[in-house]
Amino acid sequence: MRIVFLGPPGAGKGTQAQRLARHLGIPHLSSGEMLRRAIHEHTPVGLLAEEFMVAGQLVPDAVVVQVVGERLEQPDCKVGCLFDGFPRTINQARSLDEYLERAGTPIDVVIELQVPDAEILRRLAGRGRDDDRPEVISERLKAYREVTVPLTNYYAKRGLLCPILGEGSQDGVFARIQQALGTDRQARAGSGST
Ligand code: AMP
Repeated sequence: MRIVFLGPPGAGKGTQAQRLARHLGIPHLSSGEMLRRAIHEHTPVGLLAEEFMVAGQLVPDAVVVQVVGERLEQPDCKVGCLFDGFPRTINQARSLDEYLERAGTPIDVVIELQVPDAEILRRLAGRGRDDDRPEVISERLKAYREVTVPLTNYYAKRGLLCPILGEGSQDGVFARIQQALGTDRQARAGSGST
């Protein structure tokens, strides 16, 4: 199964994505983590990505697509995977579609965690990551709204989008995700399209 996870920074996306990937037994592919590791290891990709990340801006598509593409070649991704933080732009989404279509393993579902801005700011304030400073947070939220929100339309048009309310307890949100995935599968089986 191939799942894309969308949601603003601080929506609890990473936590829920990790939990769902573990539950389904598929690798959790976080582009943010891959880039942070590259920075930590001082690789050429890391050096390039760092200046964008510290400013709260998106890293160029070509860089991210290359990093995620290399990860997708690993054998553990054959059983499926969960994309967390990728794609972030329509260009990235198109690249991913092309890659997965060539491999004959298209995206099954796109989960969008929806959390109001006030709640996001409250959660991010308590997280303490380098790019969680207030001025960087507002830049990241802006980047999310401007560039990533059109992605929800892109996937909605293809009937893949599954919006989930991301407010409330972690367990409550996870239960909603599981329920939606179950419902989604039943609905598709019933439609006779598979
Ligand atoms: P995240 O851990 O997903 O919140 O990502 C942290 C930062 O990494 C973002 O603010 C971006 O600077 C960068 N980043 C992560 N994923 C992507 C992506 N798919 N496209 C562009 N930049 C990304």
